[in-house]
Amino acid sequence: MSPSSLIKFLESKFARSIPNMQWPIRPADPSRGLPDGATVVIVGGGLAGSCFARLLLMLCHKENKRINIYLVNSTGCNYCGGLVTNIAQEAMKRLYKLNIPENLVLEKINSCVYVNREGHVKIELPRLITATLRTSRFGVTGFDDSIKHRILEGMEDCTKTSTFTRIEPTIVKRIIPPDGESKKWRVVLSRRRPNGSPDELLADLVVLATGFNSLDKPMINRFMQSTGFKPPPVLRACVTEIDTSTARYNRVGQQVYMIDGIVPGSILAFIPKGKNWLTLTSLNKVLSFEDLQTLFNHPVVKEIIDLPNPAECLRCHVICPSFVFTGPSRCFYGDGWVAVGDLAGYGRVLKDGYLAAFVGAWYAVHTVFYHGTSRTHFARYYHRPLRRFNRENLLGIKLFNFNMFIGRQKWFNRLLLAAAKEERQKNPYGWAIHAAFRGLQTGLLPYLLISLLFVLGLFRYVLRHPFQAWRIIFCRGKENHSEIKKTIFSAARKII
Ligand SMILES: Cc1cc2nc3c(=O)[nH]c(=O)nc-3n(C[C@H](O)[C@H](O)[C@H](O)COP(=O)(O)OP(=O)(O)OC[C@H]3O[C@@H](n4cnc5c(N)ncnc54)[C@H](O)[C@@H]3O)c2cc1C
Repeated sequence: MSPSSLIKFLESKFARSIPNMQWPIRPADPSRGLPDGATVVIVGGGLAGSCFARLLLMLCHKENKRINIYLVNSTGCNYCGGLVTNIAQEAMKRLYKLNIPENLVLEKINSCVYVNREGHVKIELPRLITATLRTSRFGVTGFDDSIKHRILEGMEDCTKTSTFTRIEPTIVKRIIPPDGESKKWRVVLSRRRPNGSPDELLADLVVLATGFNSLDKPMINRFMQSTGFKPPPVLRACVTEIDTSTARYNRVGQQVYMIDGIVPGSILAFIPKGKNWLTLTSLNKVLSFEDLQTLFNHPVVKEIIDLPNPAECLRCHVICPSFVFTGPSRCFYGDGWVAVGDLAGYGRVLKDGYLAAFVGAWYAVHTVFYHGTSRTHFARYYHRPLRRFNRENLLGIKLFNFNMFIGRQKWFNRLLLAAAKEERQKNPYGWAIHAAFRGLQTGLLPYLLISLLFVLGLFRYVLRHPFQAWRIIFCRGKENHSEIKKTIFSAARKII
């Protein structure tokens, strides 16, 4: 078996697939779930809220049940981003019977480039990844918006059995739990009735899908106080869209770039979105304009693109701060309410929020439709299947933190690049290190395997090229032996 076929074997053997969505949903009995004529109010029309609405309508149609569904969405800017992995596309197709329309596709990404302060290396991807915009604010339909507008696609006649109403743009101001007199939730809207009082909806089930945009808003704070809801732990992030038409040269091509440590304390990504269009995302840091300058002035980045005044090329003139979850919420459902999408914090950390939203909404809808809307039902049929992510996520965060630490060391950056380049010289598909980077990009491999592949690739390089490795680690740069020893020991302690 040649080295690359061993790696290909490992990649296909351990590739993640969409979970088996049957277990533990059976026995599925529509008479047990939401009663006929019940009202469901979904607060937030991002990916999770829209998918929840669509699937609930699909099930109503299939089982001939009548449910009144309201989707209330405030159409603020929903950040950029929009890289849809193959596994997320498959989930979208299989679970929601939706494809990505061609007019949404801005670029098909065929490879990825890992960049650190010492250079860069190209990594082949097994399949094309689709780049889209999330919102439609730039004159091109956004991916998230397109799902919201296709909630009824292919089942227009289902509204004969159920009703579906989208209320937009409207902000939900308050969600008031049932009290002694009323058994219904009151969802208070920003829009007003003709008599001037705030409009409100009465609901049997409230679905909270307002994403991280809503954190720290009075509505969520009150909801937390009244229900015990706890948002998941988060990491700072940011995103901006860059017009690259003024670049002196641009070699980005159809490649996505993982830019590690060039702006200290962050991992960035360049995602191409067609001609003259680049999305820049950052994990662990909200970038300032000075950080932008640092990034584009760095000699390694300058080999890829030379953009003299990046701060003047931002399409919205701002860098939008945002969050990504780093673990699960400790309380995200109760009697008659459930949080889905980002606010549940269940999914693979630092990767594939879309897939998490698709899978989470699927379990939540099946729970309410076939089992019930009590805390016990959510615990058994929604929470339990999502728990599979927990252990893997702990490792994912450890790997991220370890990289933030060790990535500050010049020798480590050089060693990683030397090992990855040596793999590529032998075979463009590379070996273990390439597979690890590929796994990070496609979201297909578990974090445990990714970590092992990195270790394997580095060990192999050190064993095969001890002299070069020795020179890289000990002889070049400013570090001295005791510093390196200290780094290795404290890195090992961090992992343990
Ligand atoms: C910068 C950034 C880039 C990302 N890029 C990617 C990527 O490339 N690929 C990927 O797979 N994942 C990505 N993610 C993660 C992914 O976008 C999210 O995990 C996913 O969109 C979560 O969907 P959601 O429906 O839970 O929340 P959101 O998409 O945030 O939707 C929440 C919705 O609720 C509405 N809302 C908020 N408050 C109220 C209110 N009070 N009343 C009514 N409506 C309200 C908002 O307007 C919004 O429409 C990215 C995340 C960030 C922050």
